[in-house]
Amino acid sequence: MALIEVQVPDIGDFDEVGVIEVLVKAGDTVKVEQSLITVESDKASMEIPSSAAGVVKEIKVKLGDKVAKGSVILSLESSDAAAPAPAPAAAPAPVAAAPVQAPAAATYSGSADQAFDVVVLGGGPGGYSAAFRAADLGLKVALVERYATLGGVCLNVGCIPSKALLHVAAVMDEASHMADLGVVFGTPTVDIDKLRAHKNKVTGKLTNGLNAMAKMRKVTVLRGVGSLLDAQNLKVEATEGAVGQAKTGAVQTVAFKRLIIAAGSQAVRLPFLPNDPRIVDSTGALEMGVKPERMLIVGGGIIGLEMGTVYSTLGARLDVVEMLPTLMTGADRDLVKVWQKFNAHRFDNIMLNTKTVAAEARPDGIYVTFEGEGAPKEPQRYDLVLQAVGRTPNGKKIAAENAGVIVGDRGFIPVDVQMRTNVPSVFAIGDIVGQPMLAHKAVHEGHVAAEVCAGEILGDDKLKKSQFDARVIPSVAYTDPEVAWVGMTEDEAKAKGIKITKGLFPWTASGRAIANGRDEGFTKLIFDEESHRIIGGGIVGTHAGDMIGEIALAIEMGADAVDIGKTIHPHPTLGESLGMAAEVAHGTCTDVPPVKKK
Ligand code: FAD
Repeated sequence: MALIEVQVPDIGDFDEVGVIEVLVKAGDTVKVEQSLITVESDKASMEIPSSAAGVVKEIKVKLGDKVAKGSVILSLESSDAAAPAPAPAAAPAPVAAAPVQAPAAATYSGSADQAFDVVVLGGGPGGYSAAFRAADLGLKVALVERYATLGGVCLNVGCIPSKALLHVAAVMDEASHMADLGVVFGTPTVDIDKLRAHKNKVTGKLTNGLNAMAKMRKVTVLRGVGSLLDAQNLKVEATEGAVGQAKTGAVQTVAFKRLIIAAGSQAVRLPFLPNDPRIVDSTGALEMGVKPERMLIVGGGIIGLEMGTVYSTLGARLDVVEMLPTLMTGADRDLVKVWQKFNAHRFDNIMLNTKTVAAEARPDGIYVTFEGEGAPKEPQRYDLVLQAVGRTPNGKKIAAENAGVIVGDRGFIPVDVQMRTNVPSVFAIGDIVGQPMLAHKAVHEGHVAAEVCAGEILGDDKLKKSQFDARVIPSVAYTDPEVAWVGMTEDEAKAKGIKITKGLFPWTASGRAIANGRDEGFTKLIFDEESHRIIGGGIVGTHAGDMIGEIALAIEMGADAVDIGKTIHPHPTLGESLGMAAEVAHGTCTDVPPVKKK
């Protein structure tokens, strides 16, 4: 046995990249080429493979570290006794680009029961948008979905039901806040069954609407689990039941000229957590089967904090544990600070740089043990534990290899800017192709894939050129207050040494925010000092998510501070804070104190 150090290989154009994931731990046995860490640059994320096989002795990097060629990732007890110090592995491929080796495709020799121009696998926001766009362009389309309703995670167990509950929580919070303004409502009583029924009605309205839209477009919806047979045929095993994916035994083969994979993702489950109804993922949390007094949120990202907001308003005391040094990673700290201050009353304990390492289900609760900077000495008891530690793509569950489609180690399917996989007849979109896992990204990718398919099948040169070239994709935490950001953050600009001009408009100067009794927020625009163009922005405050689109548009249009500041926004609105932030950047704002002349 030889102790060796595995280093970061040549990573191409990048001097330094950040570690965003550590995929192994001390004691793990790793193989050659097994991914060890994921790093992220401004252009792509990539997994760094191991250059040797053996047992991990010590991890030498942690989340957030910056690494470069030659940085030591870990020490390894190599199984090869004579192992020399290994050379760094070959440069890893970015997740967004096809790695080298494709699996050998199968050839299906049977006949097909039905044939379509385009088959879309998965009926989520990416899938139904692709199917509908392809049908609108004149193609014969089938949409394959294993569950009873279309809409995928977003409509059934994600964006929409969470917002239905967050709306109710916001009204309850607003009603209690009214007491400060002289209007006192009684203490609310919550009928959980009725609330759940309301949430289900909301999702039902939308998912039924999708069925109607599919019919209007003559899109054939096939209920069943799809898996690839080869690069031209998909097997569909029929499923039934209002919930779940129970197979009926009926199987059919559908042939396609083009396939669009939109099979999405599922919640990551921590393997050491016991099976217990009091330990849930976001889908379980949305069911509201438990009314907790003490709730633990494992993972301080958007999904966990949104669900925490709902449960806290309904009466739960919250603890949150996060491995990274901050909550809501990705957003600028100044935005998050406002949210954190406003929400401090909801939390008993915010444990940062801390890990959940064990949990025991006892009759009186789930006892959780922590390790790290914020870890309490004793295990803590909770009535409900929400795991919100991320989502994993479904790429390895659809027999993509039969079509020769490359699927990365973690289940993501690499695609090009036209959303095409390494196989010409197969496209992929949405959560399954990579971050950010957001519905609006999936929808736009779906449209691109459908247009390219239509261009090729119908021989339309313009459609053939369609590509996903969005400059930015906005992110929103629909907490209270909402936190929204898009493009380059101030922290990112600082880290990259990009000189910026900042325009920050505090909502203490916004007539509308003051009138609403909610002036804790601010609007911030970030301009490139050289080009004067807007490159990013963030908003924290009520309705921030509804306003962030304007910043995205400004970035896409290449606007500068004068363009935004001279665009007349209606008064008094929260939206006018965008114009005023631009004026602040330009030095022309008369709604804030004058800038002292030097
Ligand atoms: P999905 O929505 O995952 O859809 C994939 C579909 O494929 C599913 O219906 C699945 O059943 C089906 N499928 C998978 N495999 C097969 C198979 N073999 N055969 C047949 N069918 C199959 N995003 C936002 O933008 N805004 C938000 O506010 C937001 N809130 C969220 C809140 C929560 C609690 C969660 C969990 C997610 C949230 N998201 C939000 C993320 C958003 O839901 C996803 O990014 C989005 O749904 C991805 O769309 P998709 O089409 O790629 O995949």
